[in-house]
Amino acid sequence: PATHLRENPFELAQSQLRRVGETFAVDPNLIRVLSHCKKGVEVSVPVQMDDGSVSVFQGYRVVHNMTRGPAKGGIRYHPAVTQDEVKALAMWMTWKCALMGLPFGGAKGGVICDPKELSLGEKERLTRRYTSEIINEIGPEKDIPAPDVGTDAQVMAWIFDTYSMNVGHSVLGVVTGKPLSVGGSVGRDGATARGSLYCIRTALQKQGGRLHDTRVAVQGFGNVGSNLARLLAEEGVRVIAVSDSKGGIHNPYGIDVPAAIAYKAEHGALGGFPGADEITNDELIELDCDVLVPCALEQVITSENADRVRARMICEGANGPTTPAADDILEDRGILVLPDVLSNAGGVVVSYFEWVQGLQEYFWKEYEVNAKLNDIVVRAFEETWSTKERYATSMRTAAYGIAVQRVAEATTIRGLYP
Ligand code: NDP
Repeated sequence: PATHLRENPFELAQSQLRRVGETFAVDPNLIRVLSHCKKGVEVSVPVQMDDGSVSVFQGYRVVHNMTRGPAKGGIRYHPAVTQDEVKALAMWMTWKCALMGLPFGGAKGGVICDPKELSLGEKERLTRRYTSEIINEIGPEKDIPAPDVGTDAQVMAWIFDTYSMNVGHSVLGVVTGKPLSVGGSVGRDGATARGSLYCIRTALQKQGGRLHDTRVAVQGFGNVGSNLARLLAEEGVRVIAVSDSKGGIHNPYGIDVPAAIAYKAEHGALGGFPGADEITNDELIELDCDVLVPCALEQVITSENADRVRARMICEGANGPTTPAADDILEDRGILVLPDVLSNAGGVVVSYFEWVQGLQEYFWKEYEVNAKLNDIVVRAFEETWSTKERYATSMRTAAYGIAVQRVAEATTIRGLYP
């Protein structure tokens, strides 16, 4: 399948790390250590399909770093997954957990498949076989998967069940993003979007703005994009465009987001939604709006279109939507970029809460989850903002700088073995 990746994502992640090393004068030996992933497995996943044939899928699980705690990171089911994409996503997870102050390292997994083409039974068999193939890699004290593109609470429930059946008892902490009925946390579903909302609100406050009547365009209408569009609309934001993989819809006066969610659930796509013009995903990036929120895949804002972005702020709901070359252009143009490791960290923060609740087998109320989420995300935002001001740099370099220094410090204190 055609890939959405124009450049090697792991090389981009490594170049971002080198940039941070220079800005913050981090020991080059440490940067060398952190430029590599600690370990990774590549597995083949044979699955009996509904028609009786056997298909063999390719899967990955990569741990970038576990110096500060067990590794944490989502599992992606998508036709264009590559090992280097999984490695980049694992590295970004390390920085995200460190920036949030969570006792986790970074990991990621993926299976090359099109989940939309699989029946429910095929998806279950694929998930259980993939889990069996990586069963020695994961565990509540080792590496804890979560949902990402193409996976959801049901997939997490199958992983939890397969792991638990193999060890002989239920292990709630082996995976997060589980359904509530098997130890999930209230608030996890919308947590990534809620974290993004808190970041946009805090950033607007810094600039003397407010959510009410801010015009926002959201790319991607899955877990992150649709929840964020809904939360923003509830706050009085004018959501002027949303999109999915087939294309977008635009109405400068605002889209009825609950109606769009219902339409997508009924028709499987946003195209044809009444009361809005159809646009392409490329056109959405260049729309006249205040805040642009990419919530789909990597590398959608590049050196080719960054000078045509008209938003004054970009909030990265997706991981890696902006290339380093685009970052330079946006910074020169004075467009504020709220980086992925900050602005989409709400999901892993509530995953951490779910893991803690699972270990304790004691579950919190939703208002407690949301209040604790707000505390952690806003504190990380303020730390990043003040570091940006002190070093006269971008929010991304500041956020990475805080995170990399935390991981570097832990690495130095633990020392190399032997
Ligand atoms: P989902 O699978 O729930 O949704 C993905 C959305 O992106 C879908 O609406 C999909 O369209 C759309 N999409 C896919 N390809 C394209 C494309 N080429 N152009 C435009 N839209 C496209 O994934 P999530 O919402 O979970 O994840 C989205 C992003 O957020 C990813 O980068 C992920 O890593 C990141 N993220 C997710 C977290 C989570 O908790 N889920 C946590 C932190 C980050 P369609 O509906 O047509 O399939």
